[in-house]
Amino acid sequence: MDRKEKVIVIDFGGQYNQLVARRVRECNVYCEIYSYKTDLEQIKAMNPKGIILTGGPNSCYEEGAPTYQEELFSLGIPVLGLCYGAQLMMHVLGGRVEKAPVREYGKIQVSVDSSSPLFDDVSETTVCWMSHNDYISQAALGFRIIAHTADCPVAAAECAKKKLYAIQFHPEVLHTVEGTKMLYNFVRGVCGCAGTWRMDSFVEESVKQIREKVGGGKVLLALSGGVDSSVAAGLLSRAIGKQLTCVFVDHGLLRKDEGDEVEAVFGQDGDFDLNFIRVNAQERYYAKLAGVTEPERKRKIIGEEFIRVFEEEAKKIGAVDFLAQGTIYPDVVESGLGGESAVIKSHHNVGGLPDYVDFKEIIEPLRDLFKDEVRKAGLELGIPEKLVYRQPFPGPGLGIRIIGEVTAEKVRIVQDADAIYREEIAKAGLDRSIGQYFAALTNMRSVGVMGDERTYDYAVALRAVNTVDFMTAESAEVPFEVLQMVMSRIINEVRGVNRVFYDLTSKPPGTIEFE
Ligand code: GLN
Repeated sequence: MDRKEKVIVIDFGGQYNQLVARRVRECNVYCEIYSYKTDLEQIKAMNPKGIILTGGPNSCYEEGAPTYQEELFSLGIPVLGLCYGAQLMMHVLGGRVEKAPVREYGKIQVSVDSSSPLFDDVSETTVCWMSHNDYISQAALGFRIIAHTADCPVAAAECAKKKLYAIQFHPEVLHTVEGTKMLYNFVRGVCGCAGTWRMDSFVEESVKQIREKVGGGKVLLALSGGVDSSVAAGLLSRAIGKQLTCVFVDHGLLRKDEGDEVEAVFGQDGDFDLNFIRVNAQERYYAKLAGVTEPERKRKIIGEEFIRVFEEEAKKIGAVDFLAQGTIYPDVVESGLGGESAVIKSHHNVGGLPDYVDFKEIIEPLRDLFKDEVRKAGLELGIPEKLVYRQPFPGPGLGIRIIGEVTAEKVRIVQDADAIYREEIAKAGLDRSIGQYFAALTNMRSVGVMGDERTYDYAVALRAVNTVDFMTAESAEVPFEVLQMVMSRIINEVRGVNRVFYDLTSKPPGTIEFE
């Protein structure tokens, strides 16, 4: 793992900033996101092999718009500007940017000049994703135009001598068919990165670092059963074995058999060397949640109760040296500590350190990784695929997939329905292609007929969405036969359900979860 070979993304508030960094890492080059307010000296000190400027909502020619000093473009470090970043590069270097007579949005045919190293091996006309109101009406002196569209005379420009590249479209978005190739051409070709960022070496190096940091100390980790904390557990176990204690709180709001699956992997009979404590707190949770219907209140109770249970266990263990957390890079960025994007959510893992456990230091071994990298690290560590490719799951678990009051009976219904849904999606080979899918239990009961008898039972809602970044989502087109099969199995196999709905709502206006 070579973090010395690093590309820096300078964030101007674009929606896709994390995507840019992820795509670069897919090219096996380590990449970090920094705000455009980051000092030039700090950037120089990092000695990056390349710099990428992201898109952004502003118009670079307006007073007070985010900018960067001209010197950035004469450090001898290759720079690639994307959309706002491209416009800004031109603006700062003396080109002209103004409101476009025709704004472009969506998939657009772009003609490229494949003699540019940026477009090496790219087709001469290629579909790219555009999203802009402004345009570069005149490239800066010394630049050559290397792409255009019907409405956009400067869709890309280069100053090969100074290794400066500007692209009006978004290569980081998958709708740009050859976008990954373009980013690859930039980081591996123009910047000359060798591509040494790989997950096997990440594991090896992290193990070494953890050992150095922890020494003979004790580490405590709250294991939720989710991907991040499971991979953190695997990594810490590999590094320090029994110096690690994992506390797994089963709050009774996990998916079907999930508690046992986690225990099978990390418990006594599992493959990992660590101390594993499972707390069966189901009854305690159901008692606390009885009669509560308000979603925020439910979330709060579930969160607080988790802390109480964890605290009680921690007290039994006594003082530890380190508290480990499964924080990952998007948590850091979204908390406003990385890039420039508005604080989307203050993540519980970042910033707000728990003060209820007696520990000296916090340790976050996955802090630099994106989710797909966490998964790869998990597989490297020998964590079963089933766990590593687990569907995203909210912290409050099924508690917020049961609309209204949570009871043991309703948990059973939604667990069984969801298990059937996941099974059929996997059988149809859709489990890796649909972003997220799950079953929820509505608080509606309706009349039906089964075996000639009247029923008055619950309705289950099926949801499946595709999302690039979880900020927006569209309902996924699950084949009708699959939905029918799921419906029929749920009605036949899950007692208490006589109706199944499919949720078509996109986000916005809906959220992915129901509460
Ligand atoms: N705000 C600029 C424009 O409208 C840049 C847009 C972007 O970066 N996506 O052209």
